[in-house]
Amino acid sequence: MTGSLSIENLSKHYGATAALQRVSHAFAPGRVTAILGPSGSGKSTALGIIAGLLAPDVGRVFLDGADLTRVPPEKRGFGVVFQNYALFPHLTVVENVEFGLRVRGVGKAERRRRAGEMLDLARIPHLAERRVHQVSGGEQQRVAVARALAIRPRVLLMDEPLSALDARLRDDLRAELARLLRELALTTVYVTHDQAEAMSLGHALIVMNRGRIEQAGTAEEIYRAPASPFVAGFIGAANVFPDAEKLSDGAVRLPFATFPANGTSPPGPCWAMLRPEAFEVAREDEPADFAARVESAFFLGAHMRVQLRAGDRPLTAEFPAGAVLPSSGSLRLRVRPGALYIRANPEP
Ligand code: ADP
Repeated sequence: MTGSLSIENLSKHYGATAALQRVSHAFAPGRVTAILGPSGSGKSTALGIIAGLLAPDVGRVFLDGADLTRVPPEKRGFGVVFQNYALFPHLTVVENVEFGLRVRGVGKAERRRRAGEMLDLARIPHLAERRVHQVSGGEQQRVAVARALAIRPRVLLMDEPLSALDARLRDDLRAELARLLRELALTTVYVTHDQAEAMSLGHALIVMNRGRIEQAGTAEEIYRAPASPFVAGFIGAANVFPDAEKLSDGAVRLPFATFPANGTSPPGPCWAMLRPEAFEVAREDEPADFAARVESAFFLGAHMRVQLRAGDRPLTAEFPAGAVLPSSGSLRLRVRPGALYIRANPEP
């Protein structure tokens, strides 16, 4: 399959700042990979190097086996969509979409035909003759996507394409972009700091932190088995215990109780995670694993989110909305079988 993009051992420094440190990854061909991470984690630097807008200190970029590291951006044949759209304000919508084709010397009739197809795909054919400043932010983003796709790119690169839009519009466009990207089956790298965006658009996820890939996998794999306390807290809500200990009988000691656990770690210090849905209220006739004080409870529709304190540790728990909970005082709790996840401490 074509569109096999990979990066090998990329590093990039700005003065003393290590923006990327020995990053390697093979992107799934024909699929969307979301690069997710907090601000400053190196996402845009990685994308800029893939696009050819930045040169790495070391490392290489490959497409279908060819080394592109020194190929200038316009010769890579990649479609690029950035946060600020970078449209030409003095041109009409259709002229913007045609732009890349014109640069490549495609004749006028063919340009118009292909631009028309792209405007249909982006569902904005009625805006073709408007000037860019006469269309809304969401529509401008559709123009930017249509323009990137018009050249029939070998790879599509997107950097926070929805982040300038308001929340409602972002949700609508996100769903539509997901449909479009699924239909296109184009190797796509999608940078975002928004967890929901990454999980709904990306077939595969890369979680970055401090210039490194902390974990790559599907959203479900990463949610179930995070590689580090950072990833556990970044993908979904998590109660993380950096100071857990695996005992020689296989049980795991948390600061407030000892439980059987899932996951592999040799006896000794480890870190542990309990997702908010890991807890259930013990019936009166059942033994409990531990007791916790209720500090606050919020009704969130399908479930209740409850802030607890067990010993000196705060805990976040979620219960089905029908659960009968005291609004204050103490709860007797059980941890669902298999819900405690542990892992050996990451290398410092
Ligand atoms: P992200 O896209 O995840 O927010 P970036 O790739 O933009 O992260 O930045 C990674 C690190 O490199 C940050 O510490 C950032 O401040 C630094 N950085 C990025 N671009 C420059 C630059 N042009 N000059 C100096 N430092 C930079």
